[in-house]
Amino acid sequence: MAIFYDNGIAEKCDQCDGTGRVDKGECPACEGMGDIKNKLKWRVEFTIGVRDRTIKELDWDAFEQDDLALLNEPTETELQVNLLWLCVEEQANLRGITEEQFATRLGGDAIMAGYKALMESLKDFFTARGAAPLATAIGKWQRAMDRVIEKTNKRMDDLDLTDAEIDALVEKSMREAKTEKERILQSDVSGK
Ligand SMILES: [Zn+2]
Repeated sequence: MAIFYDNGIAEKCDQCDGTGRVDKGECPACEGMGDIKNKLKWRVEFTIGVRDRTIKELDWDAFEQDDLALLNEPTETELQVNLLWLCVEEQANLRGITEEQFATRLGGDAIMAGYKALMESLKDFFTARGAAPLATAIGKWQRAMDRVIEKTNKRMDDLDLTDAEIDALVEKSMREAKTEKERILQSDVSGK
């Protein structure tokens, strides 16, 4: 099952009533900040029902290769957030969390964690539906992505880089990952 933690939203610390201080010292609960980010754990499930809704509401079908390829586009964050929302909506409703609030919670690195969980749930979905080539392609995407992240981190550790050089390096790695993933999708799914 695919799980991820969101980035939370800041709430007033109960322990110090938002002052950051208890008795004579710093509040240990919020480390003197006065607020706490209450991160939430989400279960991401891409089901038949979710697929029906992505087709109707987002004009996006997991079984369409072109649609699936959109998940590689760094500019398609909104699509990724919308897909994630449909996968968690039931849980969000139980928690009284709206779509806007959910999107806000995906700040920082939570969007990457959510994206990985979405990929995991799609892989499970394809496996369950007997779409082995698609499940295989997603599995390879995940590994390609992990390799790129690992390689980029290593390059950044090795070198003393400026911010601009780091940005350029990350951008280059993302392009390499995208090319690699396009190649995987085309070679694995062409036989479907
Ligand atoms: Zn506190």
